[in-house]
Amino acid sequence: MMERPLTEHISSTRAPLNLQEYEAVGGYQALRKVMQQMTPQEVTALIKESNLRGRGGAGFSTGMKWSFVPMEVSGPKYLVANADEMEPGTFKDRWLLEGNPHQLIEGMIISAYAIQATLSFVFLRWAYKQAAQEIRKAIAEAYAAGYLGNNILGKDFHLEMQLHTGVGRYMCGEETALLNSLEGKRATPRAKPPFPQVSGLFGKPTIVNNVETLSFIPHIINKGASWFQSLSYTSDGGTKIYGVSGKVNKPGAWELPMGVTMRELLEDHAGGMKNGYRFRGALPGGASTDFLIEEHLDVKMDFTGVAAAGSRLGTGTMVVLDDKTCPVGFVHNLEHFFAQESCGFCTPCREGLPWTEKILYALEQGRGTAADLEQLLLHTRLLGPGNTFCALAPGAMEPLQSALKYFREDFEQHIQAKKCPYAHDSH
Ligand code: NAD
Repeated sequence: MMERPLTEHISSTRAPLNLQEYEAVGGYQALRKVMQQMTPQEVTALIKESNLRGRGGAGFSTGMKWSFVPMEVSGPKYLVANADEMEPGTFKDRWLLEGNPHQLIEGMIISAYAIQATLSFVFLRWAYKQAAQEIRKAIAEAYAAGYLGNNILGKDFHLEMQLHTGVGRYMCGEETALLNSLEGKRATPRAKPPFPQVSGLFGKPTIVNNVETLSFIPHIINKGASWFQSLSYTSDGGTKIYGVSGKVNKPGAWELPMGVTMRELLEDHAGGMKNGYRFRGALPGGASTDFLIEEHLDVKMDFTGVAAAGSRLGTGTMVVLDDKTCPVGFVHNLEHFFAQESCGFCTPCREGLPWTEKILYALEQGRGTAADLEQLLLHTRLLGPGNTFCALAPGAMEPLQSALKYFREDFEQHIQAKKCPYAHDSH
């Protein structure tokens, strides 16, 4: 039977497992094992061996990230769970936060032990009110049980944990902007290097990991690196929480082996397209990824497979474009979001995104010209990788550049007809 380690104890019909219920299904056994049998270095080595890749979107090796923390440096070190899930179309971490908060907390304690952090934060998206309640309750339970605080399980290891709710800005999900925000400063990104592993919160070594990533840690400790590898269809180990939204019969999220195809996701899990709608393309992992189209339906949804097809796995939560929705309007909507969420720190992003949005709006309204398409193409380069301070604007250019490639005739029709050809159909 297919294993679903992250979500097997989550049910939509009941409250999340409380501490006793979590312990009854093996919860905090991994922490006991680590405290009794493993050095911090052994924990990091095991996570490295498992090939767990960061589930926030970038897919960086988690064990490798931890190994960059200078363990010989004395003084405070910090761990942050990035729960500022604001990627459009993405709701996977919310499922874990609301469904099994102790799994995340146990993962965080073990991760903090691996890097010898003494203070940890859950940096939570402002809008996730239910998650805030569950996390707050679970942290209090973990303190009362002696899993947090001084001398955890009788060992010379101390860890404090705090819930911090953000202010509802997409930018705060970028790890260095998040750290500035935690320090009480404006949430603008910092230059990297130095990476946070070396100089993070208050200039001290800090690890920032995504919620899904951290939730895997207890399972890898309990069952090992080869078990984790064996869950996946491909060499990118583990399971993955995938999602599908758009005009499909059963939009939702599912924990599946890493490397299922787009077609399996769409047809077997999302129930196929709704009657009367045809698949035109999809953003495989939230708004900041390139469109893939029908010819890519058999692409394996892992970091390597999606990259080879010209996009990124990102958060793994697909946003589907159908044949009755205007691609120009679709992309305009996304660029509106990105323009609003630019932190305003660097010029290409601050000036370029609102300009891009304005051009797309004019095109959608039938007021665009051929020169506008050239201008948009220029923007995809000027706001692309290497020209901005962080990944926000390059991410924003991904759906645009791929829409101009795959749906160019739609843009041209708007110019020729001087109106939106979908005006009566899209809703
Ligand atoms: P990144 O590739 O710069 O970094 C990813 C992680 O790896 C970071 O923790 C970084 O510190 C580490 N890293 C990368 N290169 C390193 C190096 N040379 N040395 C040491 N550490 C290194 O990506 P990013 O800017 O952190 O994130 C971009 C991703 O975030 C995109 O893929 C996007 O899909 C995703 N994203 C997710 C959400 C969400 O809600 N989950 C929101 C916005 C963006």
